[in-house]
Amino acid sequence: MRILLAEDEHALGEWLSKALEQSGFRVDWRDDGRLVEQALDKGDYDALVLDIGLPGRDGREVLSRLRARQDPLPVIMLTARDSLAERVSSLHAGADDFLHKPFALAELEARLTALIRRARGSARPRLSCGPLHFEGAQRQFLLGDEVLALSPREHRLLLALIARSGEPMSRQQLLDRVFSDDDPVQSAALDVLMHRLRRRLEGRGVCIHTYRGLGYALEPRPPGDA
Ligand code: CA
Repeated sequence: MRILLAEDEHALGEWLSKALEQSGFRVDWRDDGRLVEQALDKGDYDALVLDIGLPGRDGREVLSRLRARQDPLPVIMLTARDSLAERVSSLHAGADDFLHKPFALAELEARLTALIRRARGSARPRLSCGPLHFEGAQRQFLLGDEVLALSPREHRLLLALIARSGEPMSRQQLLDRVFSDDDPVQSAALDVLMHRLRRRLEGRGVCIHTYRGLGYALEPRPPGDA
């Protein structure tokens, strides 16, 4: 899952990006409201973590402009503790959730996963596809009863696919969610990861289907269907 993080406190921004990346999110971090808007124009994100007090453009203004464009991107606002006024104005601006600073990383992760899940609609109460489930609290995949041991990149790829299961995702969308910008030879590496994941899932009731010209989709596969 690909997250845009808007935070101008550099120590917090650096720590959060690193910690979220370790948990399997792909994070782009910006420290200025105008840079956040540029990233939103170009990028394709699954959620935005937005600090209220930002230089360049205030977090609330970024949010209002996003909602004025009818963009439904899930947004978590970071607010000062005990500031009712900040929470109310963020709600009016269209925030989906809040977190008071300081907060625990586990809470941010749980809320991000819940928001992204909710954004997929109530028909999908969990991140699931056939017998494959993502357990948000433990940050692990279960295939039936078995915990899948995955490399960090395999984990990010499978998370990207299950977050939009049933819809094809383009190679670029997947590359953006699995690799950081400075990783070389990404495209070939994606094929290797895809091959490995397919072997892990083979014959287990879920598959990664290739749609020519569109990309890849995670789909349930009936038992016995090779
Ligand atoms: Ca700030």
